[in-house]
Amino acid sequence: MPISPLAAQTVTRFAPSPTGLLHLGSAYAALVAFRRAHEAGGRFLLRIEDIDPARCRPEYTGAIQEDLHWLGLEWETPIRHQSAHLPDYRTTVDHLTALGIVYPCTCTRADIAAAASAPHGPEGLLYPGTCRHRPADPAQPHALRLNTAAALALTGPLTWLEESEGRLPCDPLAFGDPVLARKDTPASYHLCVTHDDALQGVTLVTRGLDLRPATSLHRLLQALMSWPEPTYAHHPLLRAPDGTRLAKRDAASSLRALREHGMTPDDVRRAATPR
Ligand code: GLU
Repeated sequence: MPISPLAAQTVTRFAPSPTGLLHLGSAYAALVAFRRAHEAGGRFLLRIEDIDPARCRPEYTGAIQEDLHWLGLEWETPIRHQSAHLPDYRTTVDHLTALGIVYPCTCTRADIAAAASAPHGPEGLLYPGTCRHRPADPAQPHALRLNTAAALALTGPLTWLEESEGRLPCDPLAFGDPVLARKDTPASYHLCVTHDDALQGVTLVTRGLDLRPATSLHRLLQALMSWPEPTYAHHPLLRAPDGTRLAKRDAASSLRALREHGMTPDDVRRAATPR
C-alpha cells in the first residue's frame, strides 16, 4: 500500500456504514470530524464503510451524502467505497497470514454460543479459540481470525495516543481472536478501517466512545503492518432525552425526519452537541 508521506496537515474522516439513515448522533460524529479538520486548516474525508453485503444499501449511501450536504458539510472527492476495494484488504490478510498469525475458522455463531466457556468481550461473545489449533478443511466455508496472542508476541506491548489523555495501554486480548476476513466477504470492520485510515493518511481519528475499545486492536494491526499511527479523539455519544442511545432504527431521530419536522441545518448543528 502506498503510505502518504509524513503528514504535517490534520486529516480527519467520517466513516459511516450505510445501514440506515443518518441520525442526530451520526450527524454529531460527522460534525466533530469536519470541524476538527476545518479548525486546523486540514482535510476532511468521507468514507463509506459498506463491506457488509447483508446490511449495507446503496440508497443509504446516497441519502447519507445528501443529508451531510444539507448540513453544510463538504468533503474531498472521489470518496472511498470500501466494497470497491476488497482485493486491497485481501492483500493485507495475506501479509498477516505470511507472518503466521492468522488461522481459518469454520465455527458458526451457534458453535461459539454453545461453547461453555465463551465469555463476553467488547463485541459480544468472545471466540473461545476452538479452531486455533485444529486443521481446518479448506473446502468448508471459513473465516480468517487473528491469533492475537501470537500477534502481540511479535509486536510487544503497545499504547495508543488519546488526544486529551496521552498514551494509554492497549488491550487487544480483550477481543479474543477477532475475524479479519469473514465467511461472506474477505474483509472485516477492524481490518478495513485500519487499512483505510493508513492509506488515506488520516492523522486524527475522531469517533464515538463506543469504538474506543477497538482502538487497541487497530493499534495492533497498525504495528503488524508498519502503518502510521493516528491520534485518537473519542467523543461522547449523543443520547435521547431519556438517556438511551440513539440508533439508526429509531426513525424519529433521523435527519430526514427532523428536517421534515421543520428543523434547519442550524437547529441540527445546535442539537448535535452532547449533553
Ligand atoms: N463505520 C463505523 C460505523 O459506522 C465507524 C468507523 C470508525 O469511525 O472507526 O460505526
